[in-house]
Amino acid sequence: MIIRARIVATMDGAPIENGAVAVSGNRIVDIGRFDDIKTRNAGNTVDLGEQVLLPGLINAHCHLDYTCLRGKIPPQKSFTDWVQAINAEKSELSPKNYIASINDGFEEAKRFGTTAIANLTAFAELIPQVPPPIRTWWFAEVIDIRAPERAKEFVDAAIESLGRARPPGAPWGLAPHALFTASKDLFRRCGEIAPREHILLTTHLAESREEMEMFRDASGPLYEFIKSIGRTMDDCGSKTPLELFLGAPGGRALPQWIVAHLNELTESDFDLLERLNSRFHIVHCPRSHNYFGHSPFAFERLRSLGFNVCLGTDSLASNQSLSLFDEMRAFQKNFPQVEPEEILQMVTVNPARALRYENALGQIRPGFGADLIAVPCAGSTDIFEQIIAWDAPVSWSMVNGNT
Ligand SMILES: [Zn+2]
Repeated sequence: MIIRARIVATMDGAPIENGAVAVSGNRIVDIGRFDDIKTRNAGNTVDLGEQVLLPGLINAHCHLDYTCLRGKIPPQKSFTDWVQAINAEKSELSPKNYIASINDGFEEAKRFGTTAIANLTAFAELIPQVPPPIRTWWFAEVIDIRAPERAKEFVDAAIESLGRARPPGAPWGLAPHALFTASKDLFRRCGEIAPREHILLTTHLAESREEMEMFRDASGPLYEFIKSIGRTMDDCGSKTPLELFLGAPGGRALPQWIVAHLNELTESDFDLLERLNSRFHIVHCPRSHNYFGHSPFAFERLRSLGFNVCLGTDSLASNQSLSLFDEMRAFQKNFPQVEPEEILQMVTVNPARALRYENALGQIRPGFGADLIAVPCAGSTDIFEQIIAWDAPVSWSMVNGNT
């Protein structure tokens, strides 16, 4: 099959005018100018006309469990108030609600051009009832705040239920929720298992001012709330969240970590980041960030330190849609000096690298998975600018060779 479009933005070199992509089964086999592709490849031609064809978008951080909470929680005075508000909403939800939520989330993500997603779920046992229409990395969220002595048991149970529930061969990982809900032992256990099972790890880190206050100063609303649940607070009062996460230097195998947020960093944290021998990956969620009013995200500093920065939507309990186009526009508004092409990399090439699929997804290249989308284009405006400006469902998409 040959797919022709006015422009092919491969994310692997300059966009190709009057370009085409040849697909065989679920793989891309050839890319170039339409005339050349037609000569070199057999098969039917699908002409997308005045459109730009690009790699499918990859959402690096999402919780589809909470799609049904869109618009339910207005911005709160504090992050802690929001945690309590979402807990109250969650107590009203049944497995049936969660199944509908995850299915609706998948459909919405796909409609807006997402073809791969890193999805954290607290309900791995529901996976057989929510067959994903896009590529899905299932991360089992693990929390032991109420019983840290059972950390190992919780991790093993999460692995077992994910193992039973996920389709064979589907990529997966573990998500110790955050430093304030998952114990040191839980993080350690996940760190031991990841290299053995060749899986990825993700967590929420240094998200809010209140998290910084809790760990560094042993004070503030999050500190008081978490203490009232009964967590031992003996790790609070001296170290920043980043310092606690990194633990002993070299103690964590960093490249397998995808770290969400990282909004709160001190100057000593930046020194620490600069000295690291290897780098974890970072997910920034621009609209969730705006919703909470977090401290400005230090994009330029983190990029100059060599960090791979991706974008994610987070959940609809703190966001309005699952469109990565909306996310790119929100990022562009906060960082107008960043080139549109670089912003598009943050939902294609960069998350593919974070998910260790840099040789299979995120670009249009021979041998890569056939995950492609198209949106209309017109005139001579910069093509990447036009892509980011797109604010409707995509007009065409292919996931793993299927349209
Ligand atoms: Zn999150």
